[in-house]
Amino acid sequence: MHKYVIMGVQGSGKGTQAKLLADAFDLVHISVGDIFRWNVQHHTKLGAHVRRIVAEGQLVDDDLVEEVVRNRLQMHDWNFGFVVDGFPRNARQAEFFLESYDLDAVIILEMPDAEVSRRVLARRLCSDCGLDYNLIAHRPKVLDTCDVCGGKLVVREDDHPEALAVRLRDYHDKTLPVIELFQRKEFVITVDATQPIADVHAAIRARLRPS
Ligand SMILES: [Zn+2]
Repeated sequence: MHKYVIMGVQGSGKGTQAKLLADAFDLVHISVGDIFRWNVQHHTKLGAHVRRIVAEGQLVDDDLVEEVVRNRLQMHDWNFGFVVDGFPRNARQAEFFLESYDLDAVIILEMPDAEVSRRVLARRLCSDCGLDYNLIAHRPKVLDTCDVCGGKLVVREDDHPEALAVRLRDYHDKTLPVIELFQRKEFVITVDATQPIADVHAAIRARLRPS
């Protein structure tokens, strides 16, 4: 049984690394972002609530995130363990984890704010088919044009510099106390997330305790 929490600012490749880890150990990947997106797409009551919050330019509040994660973990479908991504977001939620689940490791993906900005501000989205692009890693063949459908590439609402600055501040304010708490009580591994995806994954695997 492996129980992991993965933490890192948006743009650090957290979701990708969580997925790779889940595949490697047959874990359930519990992504707060994916759960919310699923609910929005399927027009659930929770989805409608989340959409309203996001449309108002607010962040989904911590209590709601906590409830969603608690419910998801209580499904107990994680026979070989889990990797939680997008939680905990504050010290109280970290305490909940420490009390309720015996975590094997807390993986922290480290990326300087300047690098996060460089990556996030390079993101583009096709306004027609929704395909993601990145002007650093995945450039369209024709400037501002979707390779697949010819649609116009746009910058996502929350990828503008002002919105990113708010998210970075929120991340640092809330997660630093969480990281400090985990560092005192749990097995914390810190990995340089500026490396290529495969190298970050290898670095995580190399640092995990065999169990
Ligand atoms: Zn397209």
